[in-house]
Amino acid sequence: MSSASGYYVGIDIGGTNTEIGLIERDGSVKCLESIKTTGNGFETFFAETCEAITKITNGEKYLGIGIGAPSANPEKGCLDNPINLKWGTVEISKIFNQRFHVPVKLINDANAAALGELRFGRAKDWHSFIHVTLGTGLGSSIIYENKVINGKDGFAGELGHTKISDRHRLCTCGHYGCLETYVSANGIRRTVYELLAARQDESELRSVNYNDLNPKLIAEYAHDGDPIAIKAYNITGQILGDKLADVFALLNPQGVCLSGGMTGAGDVLINPVRDALFSSLLDIHKHDIDLRVSDPDSRIAVLGAASLVMDINQ
Ligand SMILES: [Zn+2]
Repeated sequence: MSSASGYYVGIDIGGTNTEIGLIERDGSVKCLESIKTTGNGFETFFAETCEAITKITNGEKYLGIGIGAPSANPEKGCLDNPINLKWGTVEISKIFNQRFHVPVKLINDANAAALGELRFGRAKDWHSFIHVTLGTGLGSSIIYENKVINGKDGFAGELGHTKISDRHRLCTCGHYGCLETYVSANGIRRTVYELLAARQDESELRSVNYNDLNPKLIAEYAHDGDPIAIKAYNITGQILGDKLADVFALLNPQGVCLSGGMTGAGDVLINPVRDALFSSLLDIHKHDIDLRVSDPDSRIAVLGAASLVMDINQ
């Protein structure tokens, strides 16, 4: 049987920062450290992570380590050449297990966030839902009957590289028309620039350098009534809502949970998502649209990673 109490270490490896938390079984964060992910290769990252684990645990016994990371293969316990980290293939579960001598479990970063919402966050009262993280790119996962759908290699449920019709932007993956090329921080920047080129509306955004454009700034302009900023969020929300309607038709989930920095835009993003989702859904699904937004302060990905080792036999 699993332990009824104790501590667990959760690690959320992001493209820029990595958070390492000492987590209690009820989801309380006892201690949290943050380090830079990129820089000097995996060896340096591992050394700094070990140091952080030693610091947050401070001699306290803990029962396992759960890791959420990009390009994670849960079956093999390895990172499969994550594009943004340039670490190559890393047998990360084995490396942490040999160093700390506790069970180590690995999961894709998007799935870690979804598990966190399921167990401790906005989706505590759901068993089946779609989770979408809107960051630099678009991460997503599907929880179905309380289980994350991993698929063969751990990449199931990734909507970011599914196609949208009538859209032809080139994606970082090399294909055209991927959802992520519109619905992400980079996507909305591209939308703003396209709108500025195509329309005559007066807009403060005309004087903003492309590299200074970000979803937060665009949202501020949208809230101030800037027509280009509002239109950019409308397009972004509509495309996401249409795509979510497809997933509703496929899986009949209880709802959608959105997370990530872009959700800070609030209604200028959420309303068009909800409107598009509603108008694209079959009538049989319309009564139960439930669209929720993650608590940005909840450290949900760290909690989800830690939850991986909460139910294994010790
Ligand atoms: Zn793509």
